Amino acid sequence: MASIEAASPHTMNTYGRLPIALSHGQGVRLWDVNGREYLDALAGIAVNTLGHNHPKLVPALQDQVAKLIHTSNYYHVPNQEKLAAKLVELSGMSNVFFCSTGLEANEAALKLARKYGHDKGIERPEIVVYEKAFHGRSIATLSATGNEKVQKGFGPLVEGFIRVPLNDIGALKAKTEGNRNVVAVFFETIQGEGGVNPMRAEYLRQVRQLCDERGWLLMIDEVQCGMGRTGKWFAHQWAGIVPDVMPLAKGLGSGVPIGAVVAGPRAAGIFQPGNHGTTFGGNPLATRAGVETIRIVEEDGLLENAERVGGRLMAALRREFEGHAGVTEIRGQGLMIGIELAKPCGVLTQKAADNGLLISVTADNVIRLVPALILTEAEADEIVARLVPVVKDFLGG
Ligand SMILES: *Cc1c(COP(=O)(O)O)cnc(C)c1O
Repeated sequence: MASIEAASPHTMNTYGRLPIALSHGQGVRLWDVNGREYLDALAGIAVNTLGHNHPKLVPALQDQVAKLIHTSNYYHVPNQEKLAAKLVELSGMSNVFFCSTGLEANEAALKLARKYGHDKGIERPEIVVYEKAFHGRSIATLSATGNEKVQKGFGPLVEGFIRVPLNDIGALKAKTEGNRNVVAVFFETIQGEGGVNPMRAEYLRQVRQLCDERGWLLMIDEVQCGMGRTGKWFAHQWAGIVPDVMPLAKGLGSGVPIGAVVAGPRAAGIFQPGNHGTTFGGNPLATRAGVETIRIVEEDGLLENAERVGGRLMAALRREFEGHAGVTEIRGQGLMIGIELAKPCGVLTQKAADNGLLISVTADNVIRLVPALILTEAEADEIVARLVPVVKDFLGG
């Protein structure tokens, strides 16, 4: 057996890693360097939309690598145009900026909101953000994040944020009462890192209306819940609304790093040449991965699959934990599911892995399941079979 306890003497100590080193994967299964098999209910944190070694994605990426990987944005990148056109069609919005990660997409959204304000003569623009939110780990995005653990040690934080609770339109109105510096409202449709906390559809519609009345940008971070995971392309679409700004990343490239900011008519013209840019953003390989991901999700009916298989998974979990005092709530939508326990449960990532299942725990006490959208009903049942005994044992029967 290869020892992996001390396998990272040269990388910075930024992650609490499990003593597992993965070697290869197929579909929703992974194998470690010792040949042990795991069912992957984490998908690289909601990244591997198509699972591992997908038979349609791999040849397309191989083709692209042999043609062009990177050219810079000094030139037109045809794959960018293709992917942007598709994202515009799916979102009902109008223009796209490409970058490489989620925090970069959110950073661009925050810059858009500030410039939107400055263009209107607001010198000190303020942006409404939410409790328990997670938007990334750059100085600006960690300031927007509603988690002191993420912020601790990195002050002074960026100013210009107003924090409000989830799903409370009264609190949003009260906290912004008479404030002429507000330019935008910014949240995740379903908070991911914060513990799989959904915004209610009714609240989304109320905020959309308020933003219209006050001339604020509605900015929805779909980095984790977007790209088909909930059964619609973007989770806010369940509420029938369209945002003004929508950052994407994670699942967009099925594992190839890519981020994007999609903007509607109110925000699409704010950036002018020289205002924003990034070297890697939208390179031919990353945008090809995005184009192919969307094509395969459409061809293979994976939105419908996420909704149906996710529904089955949720129903099975609810049945298994019904009346169990240690499980406080099971929530989410499609293939984004959180199981909240009555006590901190970080140790479950190792215990589940010992039972052949990869999961994560967020917000200390929420088991997060975000498997690939190719998950079958039989594989969903297998997740339940591997997870439930581990959780019940942890909770004491
Ligand atoms: C993961 C995540 C981010 C940050 O993305 P990175 O690619 O890690 O920078 C931002 N917002 C949400 C909702 C996320 O889940």
